[in-house]
Amino acid sequence: MHKDICEILISEEQIRTKVAELGQQISEHYQGKNLLLLGTLKGAVPFIADLARAIHVPLELDYMAVASYGDSTVSSGIVRITKDLEGPIDHKHVLIIEDIIDSGLTLHYLIDLLRRRNPLSLRICALLTKDRKRLQEIECDYVGFHIPDRFVVGYGLDYAQRYRNLPYVGILKPSVYEGSQK
Ligand code: 5GP
Repeated sequence: MHKDICEILISEEQIRTKVAELGQQISEHYQGKNLLLLGTLKGAVPFIADLARAIHVPLELDYMAVASYGDSTVSSGIVRITKDLEGPIDHKHVLIIEDIIDSGLTLHYLIDLLRRRNPLSLRICALLTKDRKRLQEIECDYVGFHIPDRFVVGYGLDYAQRYRNLPYVGILKPSVYEGSQK
């Protein structure tokens, strides 16, 4: 285990099993439909890469970059689109692939923006969702794991751009970020 991690919350094996299950459910729902997997950069990259290979219907991939945290571990409440989709989505069934839902602010903003572009349908798939009171309620169609309200890293999730390459999801030792909160 990495020295900055105090606990592995979800192992590589658990992630692999869950991704296969989600891929199966998603494949069944989107049979014969024009599916666009919309990944949020950068946190959802490992998840969307694995999930896309577990979905057995034709699909397209595109990405949006959404910034909400800066280098801190608490939500700023400010959401910015720093990279948009390549094209229109009005003839597509869009499935948003998100790494984690915490306050719900990021997805709320994104859903609102995408609905105004009139996709044929819009659904949400999140690898992780935190058990806490949301600032914005989100209806998530596919959830990987419910986790406690702790700051986690790994499998795409970072702290100050680090730890994204850990193959598991783990709790970061508070000593790593104490003193650097904004
Ligand atoms: P929300 O807007 O729901 O509060 O947060 C969504 C975004 O905040 C996620 O896409 C992720 O980038 C970041 N985030 C929320 N909780 C965590 C966490 O525990 N660890 C990390 N590394 N990022 C988080």
